[in-house]
Amino acid sequence: MSENKNYTDNYIEAKSAVDWDEYFMLQAIMASFKSKDPATKVGCVFVDQNNHQITFGYNGFVAGIDESKLPWGKLKNAPLEHQKYGYVVHAEANAILHSPGNLKGSKCYVTLFPCHECAKLLASSKVDEIIYLQDKHFGTETNTIARKIFELTDIKFRRLKLEDDIISKLSHHFHEMTND
Ligand SMILES: [Zn+2]
Repeated sequence: MSENKNYTDNYIEAKSAVDWDEYFMLQAIMASFKSKDPATKVGCVFVDQNNHQITFGYNGFVAGIDESKLPWGKLKNAPLEHQKYGYVVHAEANAILHSPGNLKGSKCYVTLFPCHECAKLLASSKVDEIIYLQDKHFGTETNTIARKIFELTDIKFRRLKLEDDIISKLSHHFHEMTND
């Protein structure tokens, strides 16, 4: 009966709901979600040339330190000893520190354009490309130096715009995953 039937109806066109850029930026956003910083949450993901994740990071206090004794507040006129800036490790630095593998030739997806201190680490790690979401410190000294470091080391950088419909697609997917 059915041996001569062909199953062409089963060969439907299918497409992932997200492309790689979107996927890894969503991962970086998830990493930032883990940050305890009440004011600035940054996350990043490093991937190799085959789009396999190597490492990730978010901004947080020095590993193993007693966080209950450190300040998350925003008092700008306090001495550095009493500000978070004295103790926070940036997302990119954390990812590089905890990477199980070499980052040469990798891409870094990060939710905020890197500061110049992280730019030094990224360049020294021989990262190939930076893909960022926000650039709210554009024009500041640290931002300008970071750009200069990337330009002088031939590290590409580009801004990624996430479309709003990703959230509705994700929300729909989340609902399907979490309901029987
Ligand atoms: Zn930084």
